[in-house]
Amino acid sequence: MVRGALWLKQFVGEGNIFTKHQVREAFPDTSQADRRIRDLRKFGWVINTNQQDASLTPEDLRLVRIGAAVWDKRARAEASKGSKRKTLSAKARQETFARDDYMCRTCGIAGGETYPDDPVHSAVLSIANREVVRPDGDANEMPVTQCKRCNSGSNGKAARLDRVEAAVDRLEPTQQAEFKQWVHQGKRSWTDLERAWSAFCGLPPEARALIESRIKDE
Ligand SMILES: [Zn+2]
Repeated sequence: MVRGALWLKQFVGEGNIFTKHQVREAFPDTSQADRRIRDLRKFGWVINTNQQDASLTPEDLRLVRIGAAVWDKRARAEASKGSKRKTLSAKARQETFARDDYMCRTCGIAGGETYPDDPVHSAVLSIANREVVRPDGDANEMPVTQCKRCNSGSNGKAARLDRVEAAVDRLEPTQQAEFKQWVHQGKRSWTDLERAWSAFCGLPPEARALIESRIKDE
C-alpha cells in the first residue's frame, strides 16, 4: 500500500487518471495490487472509479485527492485512529441487525443462542465493518452483524484445516454446491426454518410459550 501511495503521488498526481493495467505493470510481483491501492481510501485518499465518475471507463481510476502520508508511520497511525473512531448511530446498528435477521453473518448463530461446540457461552451480537467485494472487483466497506466470537477471530475450534476438509468431504453433493455459494459470497444464507428460530430466540419466555402452544404435534 505504501509503495502504491508513493507511485500515485510521484507518477500519477492529483486529478489525473491511471489504469488498472498500469497498476499491475508497476507492481508485477504484488498480487491484488489494485486492492492495496484501494485500501488507501481508508486513509483519506479519494480514488474514483467509473461508478463515481461517468467520464471514466471500467479500466480507469482517477486520483482525486492525495490523503494521509501513509509512508510516514506517525501520519498513518493518526489517520487509522481517525477512521476507527467513526461509530455507527444506534439507528444504523438496529437496521443492520434487522437486515441480517439478528444472526451472525459469519457463523449464522442467533443472538442469545449457545454455541454448538461451546454450550457454556451464548452469542452476543455486535457490528463489524466488513469489506464486501462487488462483482466488478471493487470493494466497499459495510457494517454487518457478527457475533463477538467471530468478531474477535477466536472462532479457532473449527479452524483446523484437516477438520474443515473432513467436514466438507462429508457433505452431500447438493450441500457442497450450497457451501460453494456461501464461500463465494463470503457469508452463509438462511432457510425459513432458521429465520423462524432466530426470531423465536429474541422473544421473552412468556411469548415463547405462546409460540410453543401454536406448534402442532404431527
Ligand atoms: Zn459468529
